[in-house]
Amino acid sequence: MGSGHAFRVRPRASARPIATPSPRPSLTGFRGRCDDDEPNCRAEDRYRAHELRRCPVSDGPLSIPLARHLLDRDADSRSRDGLLESLLADPITRVIAVHRGRALLSGEGEGADQGADDGAAAVAAPALALLDPDAATGAEQYLYLGRSTDGPRAGTPLVAAIVGDEVAARIEPDPARWATLRAAAPLLSDSDAGLFAEIASVANWHASHGFCPRCGTATIPQQAGWVRHCPKDDIDIFPRTDPAVIVLITDADDRVLLGSNATWTPGRYSLLAGFVEPGESLEHAVIREMKEESGVDVVDPVYRGSQPWPFPASIMLGFHARLSDAQDPESLVPDGVEIVDLRWLTREQLASPGSGVLLPGAASIARALLEDWYGGPIPDHEGRW
Ligand SMILES: [Zn+2]
Repeated sequence: MGSGHAFRVRPRASARPIATPSPRPSLTGFRGRCDDDEPNCRAEDRYRAHELRRCPVSDGPLSIPLARHLLDRDADSRSRDGLLESLLADPITRVIAVHRGRALLSGEGEGADQGADDGAAAVAAPALALLDPDAATGAEQYLYLGRSTDGPRAGTPLVAAIVGDEVAARIEPDPARWATLRAAAPLLSDSDAGLFAEIASVANWHASHGFCPRCGTATIPQQAGWVRHCPKDDIDIFPRTDPAVIVLITDADDRVLLGSNATWTPGRYSLLAGFVEPGESLEHAVIREMKEESGVDVVDPVYRGSQPWPFPASIMLGFHARLSDAQDPESLVPDGVEIVDLRWLTREQLASPGSGVLLPGAASIARALLEDWYGGPIPDHEGRW
């Protein structure tokens, strides 16, 4: 699916410790019971855990960046007449300014990060700048994000202001203070990264849905930025999200399949991913996309977690799937269009210096799925992207 799974996100705080990799026997056909004391061992993986003395994939929740909101979206309020006007007149409201896809970050030492874990981190870490409501007067578009639910600002209404060049220059002329989501996400708190993903998703939708898809009439933003209305057809048009699956495939020897995309620089590898087609279940999309991109049959897709990916409008749905028992793992057929190289890697190979494999960013869902399988943080000997 193009570069859709080229994630960069923040490091996870609570990864499990790295287990010592060791050679393992082939597990084909083995279906014993897990004697591990790993409480999260998923039932269908227990045959592997029994052999590996470790559960390759837990069933606990994955810690996935961009997906950890600390926000009450307060959707019920969106349809209230004059909501944005009243919020922007209320001095407790805080505004997040976005200009050409870049959000304004707080200056050093301003400590605007309401989601940071402690005071020291709040001062040092970059955070979304929270402005007074009149700071972004003249914005092209406002979006009511909801109310903060954490930290000293719990209950504070948050509004995004999508601003043009002139207003942006008035708010903050220093371009270094404006950052893209890709650049900022690894540095921001969970709360701020989630907010930025929400803003970017809706801002992208506004930018591309100025006209009615049915009749071409200019549409009008309503419901605090969550609807565009066609006055001619009298219909509401809602923000869209395009689902895509991203899949950690393992074989009977507990290796993981990585692919390199044609549009990436050489050495970059990640999990395979693809868009869900209309009229298709997620499970079928996993099986179809993996076949199309790699030529292999996979079975038993198991959902693991999701991550908004607003580039421009995706949500990535993470799965684990097994190579079919009837499938020769060496019969890999990269599609040659999106995927130009495929490799099976053991944990040892993945983590060893000289592998030549650049892994996805530390906080992507691809990384989260890989590290869940690996059993902890994967060392980046070759770098990451
Ligand atoms: Zn229309």
